[in-house]
Amino acid sequence: MKVLVINAGSSSLKYQLLDMDTEKVLAKGLAERIGIDGSNVSYQPAEGEKIVVEEPLKDHKDALDIIIEKLTDPKVGVIENIEEIDAVGHRTVHGGEEFAHSVLIDDAVIKTLEEVSELAPLHNPANLTGIRAMEEILPDVPQVAVFDTAFHQTMPEESYLYAIPYEYYEKYKVRRYGFHGTSHDFVSKHAAELVGKDRKDLKIIVCHLGNGASISAVRNGECVDTSMGMTPLEGLIMGTRSGDIDPAIIEYICNKEGLTVEEVNAVLNKKSGVLGLSNHLSSDFRDLDEAAQGGNEYAKLALDTYCYRVAKYIGAYAMAMQGVDIIAFTAGCGENNYAVRAGVCEYLKYLGVVVNDEKLHIRGEDLIVSEPESSVTVMIVPTNEELSIARQTMEVIK
Ligand code: ADP
Repeated sequence: MKVLVINAGSSSLKYQLLDMDTEKVLAKGLAERIGIDGSNVSYQPAEGEKIVVEEPLKDHKDALDIIIEKLTDPKVGVIENIEEIDAVGHRTVHGGEEFAHSVLIDDAVIKTLEEVSELAPLHNPANLTGIRAMEEILPDVPQVAVFDTAFHQTMPEESYLYAIPYEYYEKYKVRRYGFHGTSHDFVSKHAAELVGKDRKDLKIIVCHLGNGASISAVRNGECVDTSMGMTPLEGLIMGTRSGDIDPAIIEYICNKEGLTVEEVNAVLNKKSGVLGLSNHLSSDFRDLDEAAQGGNEYAKLALDTYCYRVAKYIGAYAMAMQGVDIIAFTAGCGENNYAVRAGVCEYLKYLGVVVNDEKLHIRGEDLIVSEPESSVTVMIVPTNEELSIARQTMEVIK
């Protein structure tokens, strides 16, 4: 069985074709600048050179046509014809309260997705464009929507409700949804496997620390809380997003700087986080690490504040679950960044956590970094959102 995984953004489209008998990636790539000058599609077969096609792409369908052409190309392709694609899995950002699981896409699902788009105006319409384009190309192949929000739908009311007038929840569905669900699901499952236990018997905290960052509390296999909210802006400090702030700051900055609410919202999403804290130095942790080592005080401040916020959430989630067995680090920083992991683990000593500093330096592989006497098992678990989407797609079509 072969599954094509599609992650469609507004002007980009990431894809991977996986052979689900071996769970190996056959080919992958990215279409960029769709609908903008200078568009291109990259294609990387598992065995072979990366190819970049520079061609105008007016829409996602144009990009997918090139992708399919490359996948089936007699020379560089990895399949003989498109009939070999058994299913398509679409990363879909917001499922609202409607979707607690992945679903087979049909007209009713598309209609619901359109309704839910209000909650994710930047993401869901782009995901829908990818779905529609794929339906045109492969009308007879099952298409599955896999939601970023679905894994978090098990949260209890006390985790997902905001203390604002209840009618806003009833009328507009204002509540915490949480994101990065496929990653939190994948990592918590794999973390349990690494200690040879069933996820149903464990309390796990997953720290997904990438450009976007979120943390979740997974008790007995179910998400009970997560840091991102109605949108991905809440919670941890991120590359360019503020995470938690006092909501009254918005009006205050609007008045002081003469900005509109939309403009301040853009500042909170695009110019804040470690980028803002480091005095606009960088949103990339590699730059911040280097600058901090060179004595840049802003970079140091950004890193310290970042680690403190992660540790604060870990403390809260240990309390929420009445204990924690595993703390797993994942995504760009979680998998690769020594300074961030070490900075967070410093706070965890209070929990009785003992980590091996040498192991904390290792990058990008499944690894338990805590010592046997540690009260909590701390580990690095590289995430694999595409594989998680492909597995869920298989479950749905079976
Ligand atoms: P996205 O949310 O865009 O998928 P990633 O999960 O790729 O983000 O994470 C990107 C972050 O990971 C960047 O800030 C980057 O600096 C950090 N990162 C990646 N590799 C390393 C590394 N080797 N050392 C330190 N930080 C790293």
